[in-house]
Amino acid sequence: MSNGLTDVFIQVLSINASHLAQTDAEIDFAIWIASHDQAIQGRGIMGFDISALPWSIENFEAEKKFLLRAVDSAKAKHYWDMLGYEPREETVLRSLEKFRELIEDFTIELINRDNLWLLVYKGGAMSKPAKGEKCSVHGIYLHEVGCVLCFDGSIL
Ligand SMILES: [Zn+2]
Repeated sequence: MSNGLTDVFIQVLSINASHLAQTDAEIDFAIWIASHDQAIQGRGIMGFDISALPWSIENFEAEKKFLLRAVDSAKAKHYWDMLGYEPREETVLRSLEKFRELIEDFTIELINRDNLWLLVYKGGAMSKPAKGEKCSVHGIYLHEVGCVLCFDGSIL
């Protein structure tokens, strides 16, 4: 994925995950996705590592279903009008479909137990970024720096 495409991908997925999230675990997923905003991660270094999502062993299947619902909702172009620009529809849809296949194929054995999220946040070493706090404009869960959409292009 090119940088520009990854931005759009993260944004549409964040919006949909944020609007669908209800449980604590689902909110974690929405925040995790938003926190992979390249604007704060640095251009070009973003790797969307599925094994490092905030999976739990207990609720793995439910979490997987939630993520698939968020992808499907993004694919149905829900909230795309919030982007404030016209994304290249075909490429975004293709990357969402690819991501969907990766999630479908992902199994519980593949979870990376050493991932930063589990070590830092679930281990209690650091408090989670403003949990449950949403952008008043976009309804997206905020990451460390703010909203994935408000932040886009406004500071960097
Ligand atoms: Zn916003």
